[in-house]
Amino acid sequence: MTLLSALTVPAPGTTGAVWLVGAGPGDAELLTLKALRAIEQATVVVVDRLVSDEVLALIPSTTPCIDAGKAPGRHGMKQQDINRLLVDLACAGHRVVRLKGGDPFIFGRGGEEMLALQRAGISCRVVPGITAAAGCAASTGIPLTHRECAQSVQFITGHGKNGAPALDWDALRDPRQTLVFYMGLTWCAELSRGLMDNGRAAHTPVAIIENGTRAGQRVLLTTLEGLARTVAREKPVSPSLLVVGEVVNLCRLATASQPPGHEAALGTGATTAYGA
Ligand code: SAH
Repeated sequence: MTLLSALTVPAPGTTGAVWLVGAGPGDAELLTLKALRAIEQATVVVVDRLVSDEVLALIPSTTPCIDAGKAPGRHGMKQQDINRLLVDLACAGHRVVRLKGGDPFIFGRGGEEMLALQRAGISCRVVPGITAAAGCAASTGIPLTHRECAQSVQFITGHGKNGAPALDWDALRDPRQTLVFYMGLTWCAELSRGLMDNGRAAHTPVAIIENGTRAGQRVLLTTLEGLARTVAREKPVSPSLLVVGEVVNLCRLATASQPPGHEAALGTGATTAYGA
């Protein structure tokens, strides 16, 4: 394979392995120490499109980096080809870091990659990352659970296999449960309509968090009935997360996860819009 032959081949006899590593939501300081060490020790890194530039900058310049990224509407490598690439690189003796945005096991197809590696008899280890929901919650001051108003939280994909997601609406009706939609922008009108038709109040607060934890983070506050209009007007871009529930009322755009003085650099001077 051409990609393989372009890479430096490790010493003969070394057994390859793959580390599925969570890169977190963007802010490089949210990377774990284990992730950083794995990146530093890799002989090749395979990245997806959600890995931020700040994190990419931590990959040693001498380490080859393969971009397998998929942007919405633009196709990167097919999942099967990525699986095969990881297997081939490990078979060639590489210490491969497969770097994925957020956590590899939350809407990251990390499970599929792990199974493909296991089937091929390749050693695979997983390093968790801060998932977008946790990162965005911290950087906006929205607690995902809160004694007074949210006893549980659900992480939901807003994108089905063939378009609009087929959701168990009944499981989403509890007003004391926070809902976090990943990949929810495209189908936000269907999502809000489905929630309202199935018992969620039209005035339920919603936060759209664009580029969470990154420079350029923007937070748009709206309600279920105003969601589609707010998205049409403000045109948030990917990556954006939707948080639905009473906890959104606690949003103060807090900067608690950042050391004092870093607010401007991290883009917390975010725009907020309330209502429709
Ligand atoms: N494995 C990732 C999620 C991959 S699905 C994780 O654990 O975070 C991709 C979706 O994640 C995006 O469409 C968006 O909804 C969300 N997302 C990822 N990074 C984000 C960020 N920095 N800000 C807002 N949403 C983000």
